[in-house]
Amino acid sequence: MGTRRNFIEKLTVASVGVPLVYNPSTLFAATGEHYDGPVLRVAIMGLGSYGTRVAKAMVSCKRARLVGLISGTPAKVVKWRAQYNIPEKNCYNYQNFDQLKDNPDIDAVYVITPNGLHCEQSIRVARAGKHVICEKPMGINAAEGQKMVDACKAAGVKLLIGYRMHFEPKTVAVIKMRQEGVFGQLKFFQGQSGFVIGNPNQWRLNKKLSGGGAMMDIGIYSINGARYMLGEEPVWVTAQETKTDPVKFKEGIDETIQFQMGFPSGAVASCLSTYAMNHLDRFFLNGSEGFAEMQPSTGYGPIEGRTHKGKLTQPHITHQTLQMDGMAKIIFEDIQPIVPVDGEEGVKDMKIIDAIFLAVKTGKKVML
Ligand code: NAD
Repeated sequence: MGTRRNFIEKLTVASVGVPLVYNPSTLFAATGEHYDGPVLRVAIMGLGSYGTRVAKAMVSCKRARLVGLISGTPAKVVKWRAQYNIPEKNCYNYQNFDQLKDNPDIDAVYVITPNGLHCEQSIRVARAGKHVICEKPMGINAAEGQKMVDACKAAGVKLLIGYRMHFEPKTVAVIKMRQEGVFGQLKFFQGQSGFVIGNPNQWRLNKKLSGGGAMMDIGIYSINGARYMLGEEPVWVTAQETKTDPVKFKEGIDETIQFQMGFPSGAVASCLSTYAMNHLDRFFLNGSEGFAEMQPSTGYGPIEGRTHKGKLTQPHITHQTLQMDGMAKIIFEDIQPIVPVDGEEGVKDMKIIDAIFLAVKTGKKVML
């Protein structure tokens, strides 16, 4: 079987023309080597569209396995149980999942429900003694995020946020180049994240369940991306909202927000978050010595990109497979990815979202 070996070999020579040696373990890839270490036994909570994608991707994981379900829809449980060979004793609903505490066969729960439910559900999972993996955004504001961090600490479990891009090979390669100084003094980041939202009755357009509109859902990629591409934390934000459809995008549900962030080094980020444009998924980073451009930059892939050194050719691997193997490494071996995916990382993004909403409301620059 040459394919996995080829993958590892490709990783050792970056497309920028300079041999960059990556330790495959830092990418958390399933390497094809024999693996007989611990396997993270995961239950998915919320068997919706993204939960379905994660479950499929986990079939290829070496270090993580889907072993349990939490759902409010019995028919889905029947289907998933058959598809993934899941025992009935590992299946729960939203009322009884606190009983996870008596189940030694589940290590972690991946919360993939609407944003407004993440905080309460994650805290219940933590109190049941299970590690929490929670989708982005981790909650609907920084206060919720902090409560989740505190609850997981108190319960002695890990809290990880579903930042799949932190494991994605081309993204990791650009972050490494930035760390090595290939772009020189960083000056500017542009992040554009958006798609056209469909059905007006979905939870994503319901403030209580979503916490906001495009910003919570897709704009967060530009926020998180600005931070990992520049490698700094912003100290101020400014933001402006544009709303062309106030019927679909009610009070508290943002359609389009342009926002800017300033960083301690003097670098600035200029970003766009929208529910009104399709195919908007682009990162651009420029420093005194060079640039990186990625488009698509955060979709399910393949990610495409180039730098002033050339095209990025790291292979596409299903993001959620890399992520879940990587998260097992974090939980069992305390090996961190190039950019953390822990609860504190999630809270940093939530604080910026809070500040962006405040900047839109007040029209003022908000200091962080
Ligand atoms: P979805 O609507 O397809 O699925 C949501 C699931 O939650 C459904 O199974 C639904 O039945 C269940 N649910 C439980 N209580 C509910 C309630 N009160 N109202 C509505 N649904 C309820 O949504 P999705 O696209 O799977 O998104 C779920 C989460 O995953 C969100 O937080 C979203 O931001 C995140 N997500 C992340 C990515 C990523 O790439 N990391 C991609 C898509 C979605």
